Amino acid sequence: MSCILYCNSSAIAHNVKFLSNIIHKRNGYLFGVTKVLSGSPELAKIFIDHGCDGIADSRWQNLKKIRESDIFKQNKNYKNIPFLNLRLPTISELAQIVKYSEISLVSEISIIKELDNESKKQKKRMQIIVMIDLGDLREGLIPEDAKNLDFKKWQQVLSPFIKEIIKFNNIELVGLGTNLACYGGIVPSDENMELLVKLYRWVKEEYNLPLKYLSGANSSGIPFLIEGKMPEEVNLFRIGESMILGLNVLNRNPIEGLRHDTVKIAVEVIEKKFKPSKPIGKSAQNAFGELVEFEDKGTILRLICAAGRQDILVDGLKPLDNDIEILGASSDHLELHLKNNYNKYDIGSFIEFSLSYGALLSASTSKYVDLKFI
Ligand SMILES: *Cc1c(COP(=O)(O)O)cnc(C)c1O
Repeated sequence: MSCILYCNSSAIAHNVKFLSNIIHKRNGYLFGVTKVLSGSPELAKIFIDHGCDGIADSRWQNLKKIRESDIFKQNKNYKNIPFLNLRLPTISELAQIVKYSEISLVSEISIIKELDNESKKQKKRMQIIVMIDLGDLREGLIPEDAKNLDFKKWQQVLSPFIKEIIKFNNIELVGLGTNLACYGGIVPSDENMELLVKLYRWVKEEYNLPLKYLSGANSSGIPFLIEGKMPEEVNLFRIGESMILGLNVLNRNPIEGLRHDTVKIAVEVIEKKFKPSKPIGKSAQNAFGELVEFEDKGTILRLICAAGRQDILVDGLKPLDNDIEILGASSDHLELHLKNNYNKYDIGSFIEFSLSYGALLSASTSKYVDLKFI
């Protein structure tokens, strides 16, 4: 294919080992999040073989793909690996969600009720983790008039919710969780983690529930964990980006000890010509409704590669070669400027780029991009 996404298996395996060591030392569970590579079974295998305790994804289609892959069907050891559904269940797809996952994050009683029905139908006791919104304003329970992290207010919201849940016979409440640094960019702190832990302790005691999991973190919790600040009760870590890109997701700096040579994308050159740097003639909107200004740098060596906005988030690409500069992209074409060493890159050769999380997500979702583990 003209566009290939390469994943470095040993580099990703290193990151899984590094984080699973830290998490297992504190008796925690590491769930590897596969959504950034569209539920790649190869990725799930690397996760499990090197220390993940479960697989998590936001789409049941991805969990199905992993579960039904030859890699998973042929290995008996993978049978008991729990699959966690990350996105709040959709009522229209509950049958699939119950079929392809053991645990789900939840935040609505009406959905939990339907989950209970579906679990009964499928004779499968679904486990649920109730999400608490600690101010990031994504999923979870939060007081309507929340201004500061007042335990009593969260308790008042959580209390009737838990009482409702424990009436259902076909599902099992196994924990509480939260999601930070996603929508609102709120970072894990002593204050919000303390509130989460207090709510967890209170639910366990008040309702006499064992609650195996306190799922307090996605990748945004990793810096807090490494600094030794994560409360010990927080024991389930749902990690994608930090394991795959090795980045601190709060500032996108590399995390020390993790590898960053994990993924790259290679795109084939289909045109190489010296051309002006500024379009000629009267200009209007481009194909994407944008008015673009061009600086006149005279004649430059331009390369066109066979990938475009349909396949990749061009803003999230960075050339691995310093002689290459990205000029822009249309649906199917990536426009590059080769600044020096004009003999490099013949037609048919490939140019390589590193990827941001968003670029990786879109590339792995494009059916025009080949995914290769090396
Ligand atoms: C995507 C997702 C994660 C994983 O996020 P990363 O930043 O890739 O670690 C964790 N939890 C939920 C609910 C998610 O949707």
